[in-house]
Order: sequence, then structure tokens, then C-alpha cells
Amino acid sequence: MYEISTKNYFPAFKIKDQFRYKAYHSGNFKDLRQVRERLTEAQIRDIKIVSQVLPFRTNNFVVNELIDWDNPFEDPIFILNFPQKEMLSEHHYNLLASALNRKVQDKELNHIIRKIVSELNPHPGGQIDKNTPEMEGIKLNGIQHKYKETLLIFPKQGQTCHAYCTFCFRWPQFIADGSLKMETDNINMVVRYLMNHPEITDILFTGGDPLIMRTKVLENYINRILDLNLPNLISFRFGTKTLTYWPFRFLTDSDADELLRLFEKIIHRGYHLSIMAHFNHYKELRNNYVVKAIKRVQSTGALIRTQSPILNHINAEKDIWEIMLKEQTELKLIPYYMFLPRDTGAREYFKVPLVKAWMIYREAIKNVSGLSRTIRGPVMSSHFGKILFLGVSEIYDKLVSVFTMIQGRNEDWVNKPFFAEYCENAGWIDEIKPAFGEDKFFFQLNQ
Ligand code: SF4
Repeated sequence: MYEISTKNYFPAFKIKDQFRYKAYHSGNFKDLRQVRERLTEAQIRDIKIVSQVLPFRTNNFVVNELIDWDNPFEDPIFILNFPQKEMLSEHHYNLLASALNRKVQDKELNHIIRKIVSELNPHPGGQIDKNTPEMEGIKLNGIQHKYKETLLIFPKQGQTCHAYCTFCFRWPQFIADGSLKMETDNINMVVRYLMNHPEITDILFTGGDPLIMRTKVLENYINRILDLNLPNLISFRFGTKTLTYWPFRFLTDSDADELLRLFEKIIHRGYHLSIMAHFNHYKELRNNYVVKAIKRVQSTGALIRTQSPILNHINAEKDIWEIMLKEQTELKLIPYYMFLPRDTGAREYFKVPLVKAWMIYREAIKNVSGLSRTIRGPVMSSHFGKILFLGVSEIYDKLVSVFTMIQGRNEDWVNKPFFAEYCENAGWIDEIKPAFGEDKFFFQLNQ
């Protein structure tokens, strides 16, 4: 009989002091030697101001291993973690700067921050209103059931990350306002919901980052679900950026081996296990610790699929995607999605128009192997479903944008191509109109 491994997975190298996890945030980032030596006072102040609204957290691995401090403001990983002045509108930036200059009381400052947050569309895609299911008349905060086959679980202990991405659409999860949080530690409720919904085949643990949880905590959730022996259940997925932001979670953290054994256990029980890994730039793959972590995860039998939004200032270039796809395939990672950034937070800063994103996608996959072309994009994960932009075409001398839906709130919407007016600067589905004079797209009727 196959036994769950009791081996100590390679490598048994000694962790350097420098890699004991240390978080940096708006309260202590000035302690970093690199910040003191490489940033001006004005740049430091900008970070302080913007981080009043956009969550800011990085760590010693990202700072010491991934960021290029010779040129931080051109470096994608620096921009990925350190809030930039231009991420807020001039109006919002000035409001905050003036409040801080005037040294207003906390109450007034918090009021200004809350107002700005509310103006940044903190819950795009109707995440709370539309996706939170009900059971026995009660809203089940902390799970989402938008597509019939997939249940999303937001475990309470996993609603943070080893570092925060400045573009993250989950940013309201990381700020103090409890009304903007989705989380649960009520595994009994999750179990009952699963038992009542045999249409669910896939469970996605998400966050935040569920792999920030101690293995014992994660195991409690997994074991309760495994114990159900649900005949309909096929797969477990973990949405995570831990491979990039803290590879030691799979290498030398005190419960790293237990985590890998938990992966093996899930697979041994016959389930498909997929790590949905966020990689935003090929630079994140070019690190020995990250590569070792990838290999250890793969040695359990888990598959690693990769996804990223296409982001201005970070990866909005054909060459970056081409290299990233090639290097991911070399590492036996499976490219999955190129998303468009959601209409929330620092969206204007990161926005890439649909047409430009499509051109980058198209050019990037021209020169990669079929194994890398598993990536689908550019995709909008919208309130209606996952909308894929197929590209620009021409019908009777009229330029049109062509879309289809990969997944829909209503499964009948899937794979029905539809046409929109060509609009060079549109970046989201609500910025475009149907192509032939209709009032609405078919999926907007009766909404
Ligand atoms: S790791 Fe994922 S959830 Fe966490 S901040 Fe980045 S994109 Fe958001």
C-alpha cells in the first residue's frame, strides 16, 4: 500500500538568519538599510501617505532577494510591494497629505481614509452582495459560490499574505474595516454547505493567502472535508503567492514538511491538487529558493498552475510574458490565466486597455511552445463571469471587439461569442457597448 511520505524532503540546508521572516510595513520600512540609502525623504513620505489607504506589507526575502535596489522605481517587484504616489489620484493624495501636514486627530484621519476607500470600489464584481450564498436564510460570510462547480473558502487564519501586492483586488481584506472582510473559521458551516450542494466538484481555498496558515490549522479544514468522502468532489486548489513571497514555507519553516505531507495526503486520497500560483514577472522565477520550493511542491504530485493580471508598470510588455511563459514551462508550471486588473483600488495606475492587453497576449504566445499556450487571456473576472477577449475583428467595414465567456454566473452564457463596439481605451466590460445598437449584452438582461 502507498504510504504517505515520512521523508525529510530535500534540501536540508540551514536557514540563514537573514531569512527568518520579518515583515516591513508603513510603521517600520524606514528601518531598512536599502530604503535609507536608496530613497529620498520625499519618496519615503509618498510611501507613508499612500499606505494610509492601500495596504503595505513586504518582507525580508522580497527586499533582500527580489528587489533591484539599484533602480527601485523601475523595478517591477519594488512597485509590486511599495505603494507609489501615482497609485492614488492627485485629489486623494492631496487630501491625505494635507491631513497629515495638519496633524489632524485620528478620528478625522480615519474618516478621510474611509471615504477614499469607499471611492475606490472596494468590492468589485458584487463579491459580497452576489457571491455570498445563503443557508437556512443566513448569509454565509467567508464562502463564495459563484460558479456551480466551485466553492471558494476564505479561511479566517489565511486572510493575510507574506507581502501585499499593490494591485491586489482583495485589498479591503487587509484593512481594518471589518465590514469589508470575507472570512470564516466555521468549518461546520462549510461542511454542511458542501453536503447540501452535490454539484460542487472543486474547492478553492483563497484569501489572502491560505498557505500562510500553519499546517495544523489548514489540516483541520482539509481533514473535515476529506472525512466527508464526497463522491462528487474532484479537486482541491490553493490560491497562493507564497512560492514567490516566502518560499521557505515549503523549505525550512518548522512545519514545511508537514505541509508537503498534507499535499501528498490529498493526492493519495484520489483528489487532484492544484496550487494556483501568482507570478507577475519572470524575475520572481529567477531565484534559487523559489525554484527549490517549486521542486519540493512538485515532488508531492501537486500541479502548479500560474496566473497573473497584466499590469501597467509591472508586466505590460510582450517580452516579459514571452519569457515568463517559457521559464514557467521549463519549470513544469502550467500557465493558466492572464487576467485584466479589476476595477478597484489603484486600478488607474495599473490599467492596461483591453486592446493593448490582447496585442501583448497575441505577440507573447507567438513564440512559445504549445505547452505554454495553456494560458487564457486577457480575461476579466467580472460580476457576470470570466469574460475572455478574443480580439479585434471587422464586420462589414466596422471594427468590433469579440468576446466569449469562459465561465458564467449562468452556465448557458458560456462559450457564446459576442460583439462589442471597438474602443481602444476600454479596460473593462462596463466601458464598452454592444456592437450593433443593442441596449445591453445578453448577460445584462434581467440583471
Ligand atoms: S498575494 Fe494574492 S491575495 Fe495577497 S496581496 Fe498579492 S494578489 Fe492579493
